[in-house]
Amino acid sequence: MYDLIIIGAGPAGLTAALYAGRAQLETLLLEKMVPGGRILMSETIENFPGFPGGISTHELIAKMQEQLRPLGIEAVSDEALAIDCKKKIVRLNSGEVQARAIIIAAGARPRKLGVEGEERLAGKGVSYCATCDGPLYKGKDVVVVGGGDAVAEEAIYLSRFARQVQIIHRRDQFRASALLQARLKKNEKMKFALSNLVKRINGASKVESVTVQDLKTSGEYDLPCDGVFIYIGYEPETEFLKNQLKTDEKGFIITDNNLSASERGIFACGDCCKKDFYQVITACADGAAAVDSVSKYLMG
Ligand code: NAP
Repeated sequence: MYDLIIIGAGPAGLTAALYAGRAQLETLLLEKMVPGGRILMSETIENFPGFPGGISTHELIAKMQEQLRPLGIEAVSDEALAIDCKKKIVRLNSGEVQARAIIIAAGARPRKLGVEGEERLAGKGVSYCATCDGPLYKGKDVVVVGGGDAVAEEAIYLSRFARQVQIIHRRDQFRASALLQARLKKNEKMKFALSNLVKRINGASKVESVTVQDLKTSGEYDLPCDGVFIYIGYEPETEFLKNQLKTDEKGFIITDNNLSASERGIFACGDCCKKDFYQVITACADGAAAVDSVSKYLMG
């Protein structure tokens, strides 16, 4: 019986583990893949305090893990397949574990566009990770879909390799921060198709073009390209909860101000929660606050 099980080792889960270790809670940290979460889909982070000029995301995560080492947190690589929120039991591939409290920091995965060709050509030109696949597009033409911070950052990253980066966004204005928008506009490799929608991704064995609809004229056209990078937001990794906690209609966990979910002793933090501001710094802050709430809960 642990005091605390933390599900997920992204910035929220790693920070929760740091605070739990310092609070001397008997803690199990679970991660189904490698620690880091979706921050590793970007190459660097520029707005994490303390690192002027930015820091590589891999280095930041490595530092977070290093900070945990002296605290003796038990970290296990296994997937939470199901959870009994009342008994606080988590079912894993390797068996079951139980705790007095649970923090869910399971994060989120990229949302799919849901158009023809997307699934068939995934890994054959369709990508959700510029850091992973960007270097494959040296001298090539890529399309990037979306209008938020992620699209702006990743399009700028891709412009290091690609000959041309065409951003396709469904509205006539971006929602990315002013700073990122200014950088996009200054970048000579960037082209913009606003009020345009990707309807189809075409290609026999690899991406050859996208079919796009101009929403102002309703006309469709084919745009030749070698790769399509999709950044249209995220979906929470909360299926394993099987409707035991209150979530919004998309599955993001609803918590109170203390990060407590709708079941006593279950807390949630980071990108799997419903909130207004999704940043690495806010995920870390949530992780710290969730452990404070866990400590109070365990003390009754
Ligand atoms: P986001 O801010 O939710 O933006 C998603 C974009 O995709 C929106 O522009 C949206 O269009 C568009 N979109 C959604 N569904 C679509 C569809 N079916 N077809 C076409 N376009 C679609 O997502 P994000 O950029 O991935 O960022 C997620 C969160 O992480 C945000 O809170 C963001 O601020 C944060 N983030 C921060 C940083 C940073 O601070 N450096 C970096 C990356 C991400 P509409 O505009 O029309 O809704």
